[in-house]
Amino acid sequence: MTKENLVKCEIVKSEEDHASPLRTLIDRNKGFADGFTAADLPMLPKLNTMVLACIDARVDPAYVLGLELGEVVVARNNGGRVTRTFIDETATIAAMVARSFDIVLMQHTNCGAQRLADPAFQAALKDKLGIDVSESAITDQRKDLLTDIDRLRDAPQLPGTLTVSALLYDVESGRVEEIAAPRTLAELRTQRDGTGASAAL
Ligand SMILES: [Zn+2]
Repeated sequence: MTKENLVKCEIVKSEEDHASPLRTLIDRNKGFADGFTAADLPMLPKLNTMVLACIDARVDPAYVLGLELGEVVVARNNGGRVTRTFIDETATIAAMVARSFDIVLMQHTNCGAQRLADPAFQAALKDKLGIDVSESAITDQRKDLLTDIDRLRDAPQLPGTLTVSALLYDVESGRVEEIAAPRTLAELRTQRDGTGASAAL
């Protein structure tokens, strides 16, 4: 084999290695499309629900919550946290569909976003990349889920008719724990404003 052919061969091999996850996904899609029966699914989800979860590959809501295609809208980000971006996207969806729906927040144990709570790491990301990850950091999932409910409650662009609840998924047992039962943002705002008024008295 000439040197030139050897180099060409190595390039092709490297391209094959690089493409292999994509080939795997396309092959799996063939199996999915072969038995496809979902052409008539409506755009709006059957369970009238949006789940926010972490991007961690172990916590895919479709598996963890046994979702069928077309049942639930799933949003995912680092930690499954309510960020300004998530709030804006949710407000946009609420304006588009013009009806109330449920938001289920789902964080999980052993989350990579716990590393974002490290002040030194946070500072390094800000210094080197100009990225502020403070709103994505996780320190205590139970408390952070309640903080995220407060973030939704305090976002004026979100309609009060939306309902929010929170789950914590345990990556070791596969079970979810209900951290907060469903409440509308309007109820939460009334409670906030009522508490504020009595505290001021
Ligand atoms: Zn995570």
